[in-house]
Amino acid sequence: MLGVTILGNNSAIPAYGRHPTAQVLITNTESFLIDCGEGTQMQMALYKIKKSKINCVFISHLHGDHYFGLIGFLTSQSLSGRKDELTIFGPPALQQIIQLQLNVADTILSYPLHFVPLTTETEIYKTTKISVHCFKVEHRIDCWGFFFKEIKNPRKIDAARCKSFEVPQAYFTKLQMGQDYVTQKGTIIKNKELTIAATPPKSYAYCADTIFLPSIATKIMGATLLYHEATYLTGLEELAAQRYHSTTTQAAQIALQAKAHKLLIGHFSSKYPSLTEFAIEAKTVFNNTELAVEGVTFII
Ligand SMILES: [Zn+2]
Ligand SMILES: [Zn+2]
Repeated sequence: MLGVTILGNNSAIPAYGRHPTAQVLITNTESFLIDCGEGTQMQMALYKIKKSKINCVFISHLHGDHYFGLIGFLTSQSLSGRKDELTIFGPPALQQIIQLQLNVADTILSYPLHFVPLTTETEIYKTTKISVHCFKVEHRIDCWGFFFKEIKNPRKIDAARCKSFEVPQAYFTKLQMGQDYVTQKGTIIKNKELTIAATPPKSYAYCADTIFLPSIATKIMGATLLYHEATYLTGLEELAAQRYHSTTTQAAQIALQAKAHKLLIGHFSSKYPSLTEFAIEAKTVFNNTELAVEGVTFII
């Protein structure tokens, strides 16, 4: 299972009941916090996010609407007696910011906190279930996107079929890797006859604050779900470019070029009381678009 819960979908200033950016990506085994704007903890409480299950935090950039809630989250975890380690991936300066905040308060965390500075586009995290790559987007300051990809599962053994062909158990690993089975008499039994395809791996691409940058599409090709910022409505391309942000139709074009299955748009400008037009506009370019509505979990 891979799902993302939206905790904050607004840009810059909290407005019209919308909060600054934060999301939680939930897998079967772990949870990732992606950006952590002001108010994230309150949103976590409201939407019943299990904070202790979060083992990694990914911060895209150091504009306040993406990390001003982080020190609160870190220290609350300590006050709750957390013991499990937590790893933060973010721009290098974030480490000093956190350390200063902890030092001046004479705070010693109850759990090990690791920091991984983002300096180059590479794989930054990997387990047997999931991998995470970071990639550069283009914003007024250094800003990173993240591509979360499930690891391809091996094929499943069809026990009944294997029994009927008398395949020895010692051969099962090879079958899972896709090999055919050759009987003692030399007959080839096709792998498809003996195994069942595993569910295709899913992926989630997170593109935080960025100017419209078509080259992003190549870095997140085939994403099952793409989150892309859409700060402004169409018609404000000039303003969007000046501020290193994107519009609805620009976000939709990235989804189209990346051959994404579905698009989520968010990071809405505080100037808009209603979001209705955002969805309408994006759908004109990429029909399978949804608004990143706070409190909604999108199953990927
Ligand atoms: Zn922002
Ligand atoms: Zn920003």
